[in-house]
Amino acid sequence: MNLLLFGPPGAGKGTQSQFLVERHKMRHLSTGDLFRAAVKVGTPLGQEAQGYMDRGELVPDRVVIGMVREELLQLPQEQGFILDGFPRTVAQAEALDQLLAELKKGIEACVFLQVPHGDLVSRLAGRRVCTGCGAVYHVASKPSAKEGVCDLCGGEVVQRPDDKEEVISTRLATYEKSTQPLKEFYAARNLLAEVDGLGDAEEVLKRIESSLKLA
Ligand code: AMP
Repeated sequence: MNLLLFGPPGAGKGTQSQFLVERHKMRHLSTGDLFRAAVKVGTPLGQEAQGYMDRGELVPDRVVIGMVREELLQLPQEQGFILDGFPRTVAQAEALDQLLAELKKGIEACVFLQVPHGDLVSRLAGRRVCTGCGAVYHVASKPSAKEGVCDLCGGEVVQRPDDKEEVISTRLATYEKSTQPLKEFYAARNLLAEVDGLGDAEEVLKRIESSLKLA
């Protein structure tokens, strides 16, 4: 099965992708993770993306589409995948259609995680991540046992630069302007599965699975 997972920043796309990947043997392709890895290593792609990411803006379509193309080309034909955080603009969605047609692949569903604006702000502002293994914490709802230290690998737990409050509002506004229109794009293709993203992560997973008839 090939899925798109989208929703505003902080909706839980990364968490739900991890669950789905583990349970359904799919490959997780997160454009945000790919950019962060490129920034960490300092590749030309990372250098180009970093300024946009730090400001909470979208990396230009041409760059993102090229990167996703490379990733999809490397997937074995039978390997199911979840695209997390891509597409984020109508131009990216159109490019994805073309790319999938070229690769003779299709999308079974586009899952949209719905979370109210106020909850997104508190989720993002309190989020902390491990720089070693990527584990995700929250200062209020899921703190690490020792502040700044990952429970799983002992790595450093930090705030993502784009989770700082001044950047969060730009990211949410960018989402509303550029990404929200994709709901209509996929609804018109009968691919949209809207899921309530509030509450316990395991509960949200069950909702996704039942909306996709995977349970
Ligand atoms: P994320 O981890 O999905 O919230 O992505 C972090 C940042 O990476 C975003 O705020 C953008 O700057 C960049 N990014 C990730 N995916 C895309 C995309 N599909 N199009 C443009 N920029 C992206």
